[in-house]
Amino acid sequence: VLIRGGALDEMLEHARARPEIECCGLLAGRDAIITDVFAARNELESATAFSIAPRELFRIFRRMRKLRLDHLGIYHSHPAGENVPSRRDLEQAYYPAAAYFILSPQPGATRPARAFRMVEGTFEECAIEVLGG
Ligand SMILES: [Zn+2]
Repeated sequence: VLIRGGALDEMLEHARARPEIECCGLLAGRDAIITDVFAARNELESATAFSIAPRELFRIFRRMRKLRLDHLGIYHSHPAGENVPSRRDLEQAYYPAAAYFILSPQPGATRPARAFRMVEGTFEECAIEVLGG
């Protein structure tokens, strides 16, 4: 998965801003390169789950269309434990074509950002290629 360095930094900043709850948002760009982060509010305010209110999702998708960006990914954080997909993440994988970024806000995290894609009903990790800018 290809992502601009600035977008990756923005996501990680979002995750670290309130490390005690799962952060979440959508990712967009052009030509399969993620360039834009659309941070959302986790309406559950939970450390183990996230949900974006339908009204906010609608607003974000409308903004993406206006900016002529493609929806390319979704992200959330795991405040505790490994940043790999949980059972709940698999059950709620509503965007089969999107890259799923899972972040760790922990200061000692060796890989604070990891990315996964749905392949035949399960998540497979994919390499993150960071581009300048
Ligand atoms: Zn998760």
